[in-house]
This record gives sequence, structure tokens and C-alpha cells, in this order.
Amino acid sequence: MSTGLAERLASVKARIAKACERAGRPVESVTLVAVSKLKPAALIREAYAAGQRDFGENYAQELRDKAQELSDLEGLRWHAIGPLQTNKVKYVAKVASAFHALDRLEVARELSKRREGTSPLPCYVEVNVGGESTKSGLEPAALPDFLGQARALPGLTLVGLMSLPPPTDDVARARGYFDALRELSRSHGLPGLSMGTTHDFELAIEAGATLVRVGTALFGERD
Ligand SMILES: *Cc1c(COP(=O)(O)O)cnc(C)c1O
Repeated sequence: MSTGLAERLASVKARIAKACERAGRPVESVTLVAVSKLKPAALIREAYAAGQRDFGENYAQELRDKAQELSDLEGLRWHAIGPLQTNKVKYVAKVASAFHALDRLEVARELSKRREGTSPLPCYVEVNVGGESTKSGLEPAALPDFLGQARALPGLTLVGLMSLPPPTDDVARARGYFDALRELSRSHGLPGLSMGTTHDFELAIEAGATLVRVGTALFGERD
């Protein structure tokens, strides 16, 4: 029984390779995170069988349940990519290989506490480069203070910046958001850049993304 997932995975990887080529970057410089939120564990197994290892989940309890159900898949890495409430930090701290939506010190402190005694959790600080008041993420101006405090926490390692800019069909505008995040990452000495989704991952790679988060192009539309 084929769902076409292996073909879609191959096609996304080919598009990533092309974007890397256009940007003059080695293909290994970009990690594909397959965003499996709201999709069944069976599809994750199928993607794993096709060679995929990095998976992204938005909701802490869903992450906890899937990690348990799929604990036999060796080398699978979970990326927690959604906003996190303090009381759910424990689920992420326990199973995640990286957290991509760090924008509150309270969450940072709790994550750090829960990782003490194990390896520090690699984190991407979420920045609001789209300037929308409803979106999560820190304002660029709030970064220095936030980084100063978060960098002191022993259970975390800040590895980069993350953003989910408002979707737009205006290519220049999308590039503008991605370029802004890259410049911030340079100026703050955080080389990781988690940016780009199904809609715009090629542009994100051309702008320097080290990690793209792609759901729909791999798993289809979500309900
Ligand atoms: C859902 C989600 C994605 C994936 O979006 P697609 O459009 O399905 O590729 C990426 N990043 C975040 C933070 C998400 O919530």
C-alpha cells in the first residue's frame, strides 16, 4: 500500500538540493524537518522507512504520545516547533532534540530546570520579523536582553533563531523577512536559522536557512 509519501519526500529533497545549488551551498547545510502535527504515527513510520529522521510537532501532548508510540524508531529526532505553556514543558524536555519556539523566559527557565543532569536542549529563539501584533515571537529589539538572560541557563544551548513570517505571495517581501532574520542571527552570533515552510522553503534556503520545517508538501493538507 503506497500513500505516495516516499515520492513526495524525494521531490521535496530534490527541491532543497536545487535551492542549495542556486545559493551555492552544500546540500548538507540544510536539515529538513518533516512537520507531522495532526498526522497519524503510521505516516511518520512510513517517512522514517523512506529515510527521514527529523520530525516536527506543535503540540506538547501529541509529541509525548507519538514519541512513546514510536520509541522503537532508532535515531529519530523530535523537534518541538510550537508555542509552549509552562505546565507542558516537561513533555518537550523529556523527548525533544530541539525546541524552536523559545520566546518566554519563564519557559526557558523551566526547560533548563527539566534538562539539568541530561544534555542541554538546543533551542532556537523565535523572532517576530513580520511585525504582526498577534504572532508569537520576540520583537527584534527585545532580543539582546532576552539572550543575555537565556544564555545563562545551564540546561539550554541557544543555537539559532526561528521565525514563521506571515504567508505572502510577494517574493520580495518574503525574502525581506528571511533576510532580516539572517542579519539578526549574524549580529547575535546565533548561526542556526529555522525558517521556511511548504509555502516558501526554497526562498528561505536561498536566504540562508539551516533548517526548514515542511508539513503540507510531505503529508498533505491538515484537517
Ligand atoms: C505547521 C507548521 C509548519 C509547517 O507548515 P506547512 O505549511 O504545512 O509546511 C512549520 N512551522 C511551524 C511553526 C508550524 O506550526
